[in-house]
Amino acid sequence: MRDMKSPIPSLSDELLSWYDSNARILPWRVSPQDHAAGVRPDPYRIWMSEVMLQQTTVAAVKDYFHRFTARWPTVGDLAAAVDADVMGEWAGLGYYARARNLLKCARVVAGDLGGVFPDSHDALLTLPGIGPYTAAAIASIAFDQPETVLDGNVERVMARLHDIHAPLPGSKSLLKSHATALTPDTRPGDYAQAVMDLGATICTPKSPACGICPWRAPCQARRNGTVAELPKKTPKKPKPTRHGIAYLARSAEGAWLLERRPDKGLLGGMLGWPGSDWSEAPEPRPPFEADWQDLGAEVRHTFTHFHLILRIQTAELPAGYNPKEGEEVQPRHGFKPGDLPTVMRKAFDLWRQASPE
Ligand code: SF4
Repeated sequence: MRDMKSPIPSLSDELLSWYDSNARILPWRVSPQDHAAGVRPDPYRIWMSEVMLQQTTVAAVKDYFHRFTARWPTVGDLAAAVDADVMGEWAGLGYYARARNLLKCARVVAGDLGGVFPDSHDALLTLPGIGPYTAAAIASIAFDQPETVLDGNVERVMARLHDIHAPLPGSKSLLKSHATALTPDTRPGDYAQAVMDLGATICTPKSPACGICPWRAPCQARRNGTVAELPKKTPKKPKPTRHGIAYLARSAEGAWLLERRPDKGLLGGMLGWPGSDWSEAPEPRPPFEADWQDLGAEVRHTFTHFHLILRIQTAELPAGYNPKEGEEVQPRHGFKPGDLPTVMRKAFDLWRQASPE
């Protein structure tokens, strides 16, 4: 909750009047004009957009958001969805634990809460997949509560506005206290979106458009000539590289052997290719004995904590293959590469390039 009042009340007013003319049009957003006319955001759409936006860009999220809300227009519809359909629609968006939590949360809201999202930060925090940032964003945007929403955009704007040189992530709480001090009691939902828009469209990481910024006069970094240095960040440790083998087995009729990954862990619950462990020196683990051929091409993919280099081996899937637990044989016309997580789809794309039909 907010505990500091704005020492410079006009800053939020200036930003809100900029937002009234410059708000981004986003599929989950109620425009400032509609908001002023009494239109209220749909908490289901705000929640979904915020879960999708965790560690993903607005540009990447828009299509997914349209597809999800067209297929499951209400939280009740999503709660009743088949898990595999939701995981399939999520494929490519990454961080698959978010999709599993999306479903869990929808089922709690539709079941225990009668289809109504709670309107306070603390109550939102109790729901699956909702951490402090997402709770603040939903409380603020969907319910107009004066919560402080601190994403990467807002951190950058605060560091520059106040010329803060302490590096992230250590400076987060200082930046948050500045963001809290600016959050107004009137129109807090619009304000939260305004400051995010300012960071996304004007106070960008490279070449910020200070000349047309509504905060150019009070901005201390602009005055001190330090904009390009901010925000400072503690250097990250380089990511390790792991290796693995993916086994692509296809029958003479074009059916594929796939494997559903365990619910817990990386790509949990998603369909993919059977494979080895991912480590410095992976143990081969083909799903069946065969003359596995190396495709001679490697998938390169980066996860949050490591880079992965995946070798691809192929073999013909024997007729009448009996899938083991967790495995599925998908017939040629039932197989949808778009339902695979990105790393697995990259392996399929390499196979297709190497195996023109
Ligand atoms: S004046 Fe420039 S650096 Fe300062 S907040 Fe605006 S865009 Fe960012």
